[in-house]
Amino acid sequence: MRVEFLGGVRTVTGSATLLEKGSLKWLVDCGMFQGGKELEKRNWKIQPYQAKDLLFILLTHAHIDHSGLIPKLVKEGFRGKVICTKATRDLCEVMLQDSGRIQETEAEWQNRKGKRAGKGEAVPLYTAKDAEKSLRTFQPVSYGEIVQLAEGVKVRFQDAGHILGSAIIEIWVQEGGEEKKIVFSGDLGNFDQPIVRDPSIVEEGDVLWLESTYGDRLHKSREETVQELLKIVQEAISHRAKVVIPAFAVERTQDIIYTLGQSIRSGTLPPIPVYIDSPLAISATEIFKKNPDCFDRETQKILSGGENPLEIPGILYTRTTEESKAINEDPRPGIIVSASGMCDSGRIRHHLKHHLWREESHIVIIGYQAEGTLGRRIVDGAKTVRLFGEEIAVKAHIHTLGGFSAHADQKGLLDWVSHLRNPRLEVFINHGEEKISMGLSQLVSERFHFKTSVPQWREKRVLFSEVEKGMPEEEVKEEFPPEEPLPVLLNRLDRTYKRLRGKLKREKKKGEDADRPRWWRQLGEVHQKLEELEKEME
Ligand SMILES: [Zn+2]
Ligand SMILES: [Zn+2]
Repeated sequence: MRVEFLGGVRTVTGSATLLEKGSLKWLVDCGMFQGGKELEKRNWKIQPYQAKDLLFILLTHAHIDHSGLIPKLVKEGFRGKVICTKATRDLCEVMLQDSGRIQETEAEWQNRKGKRAGKGEAVPLYTAKDAEKSLRTFQPVSYGEIVQLAEGVKVRFQDAGHILGSAIIEIWVQEGGEEKKIVFSGDLGNFDQPIVRDPSIVEEGDVLWLESTYGDRLHKSREETVQELLKIVQEAISHRAKVVIPAFAVERTQDIIYTLGQSIRSGTLPPIPVYIDSPLAISATEIFKKNPDCFDRETQKILSGGENPLEIPGILYTRTTEESKAINEDPRPGIIVSASGMCDSGRIRHHLKHHLWREESHIVIIGYQAEGTLGRRIVDGAKTVRLFGEEIAVKAHIHTLGGFSAHADQKGLLDWVSHLRNPRLEVFINHGEEKISMGLSQLVSERFHFKTSVPQWREKRVLFSEVEKGMPEEEVKEEFPPEEPLPVLLNRLDRTYKRLRGKLKREKKKGEDADRPRWWRQLGEVHQKLEELEKEME
């Protein structure tokens, strides 16, 4: 088995790993890099594979830093399946199209600027249309179901408790008569997070990819965090001010709706206008309501009691730009929840422009802010920031509430790892800033004596094989069949083809079979290879 780390290593965004077993190639996640021009250039880099050569993509969850380059890959000729949970597919439907629109707007803006500077034409990474087309390749699987994807490759998705539909992915691969198990933690949820269940426990594995977003810190408890938020809101009410919450459209927004809803219903908080000002968050909330089977027990209980945990008395969903603009003309105190979560795009930037300079306003940061983003600059205490070409002073109260995070903290990550029993487990630490990943790598190695490392971007490794037995990596041979004299090979080829024709004839007569599309696809690939060979011999 070979792997190549294509993203989400020594950084949080761009999650993607290429796995190769013989001639089979597939990806786990296909995320977009976010946070600064340098990093985002990687979204355009030529990949070490051809999109058409990938057999499938295993997708842990819908967040753009895991799914955001799928439409680009489909555009480039990927014809396999994207395997994910149903809720992930539903969320990707709105999120990828939204991402496509952002790419289009960005390119338009570049072009307007570029024309004036005499530059060449900018094209979007992909369009909303490309994103829509890519949805056809999605194939949902259920949590806990073992799915055979290719000869010697089985997978199972388990609840990661991070966002609706998020998964830990277990992969079993057969190689040289032995079965090995690879585990991708995906983004691991925070325990006791509302709406979604707690992360599933995994006990077996030979190799683990472990996320490390908050590998260096401990979150405050949920109760403490909720109390802090309520205090901020009460203070805002007493000064007739506004609370602005940049929130990821998926999960953080619904978490805030859930929390505020409970406080208003129980009377801890007086009814106050709550604006959900993000078309994407509104669509995502609808998808949440349609996937109640993914909810945890507590949320199910509220639902069966006849209440909708995602409704607040007096909640205002604003879809149009006019409605959005009207929010800031409303003199009443209120709470504005808007995306994007890292303040890099979307309507939140308008609200920040309107509120950052006001001393009485409150900005509440509840999600992860990647390096290089506007959100991160605000958290790090910038005195001024640039918004829409204007220098804006930061005078508002800035609060960071880690307890709303959708990611496990250091303790949560270590607790989760502690269930893995194989003393020879190899751990790759990913999805974290370099220093944080390094720190967690050391901790996991000290505490559990597992072999840990923090891979580099584009680094290649060989798993479970020759390297371990002391062979340098360069000498590892591809798994080609042993060389045979030509007449023997041709003979065997003829016989195999005859047998296959027989089988195909019989299959044609049978009805539907779940495996058939995969067989036909493989046949197509074989045919293409033969044609290529024919051309080469001309
Ligand atoms: Zn995520
Ligand atoms: Zn992520």
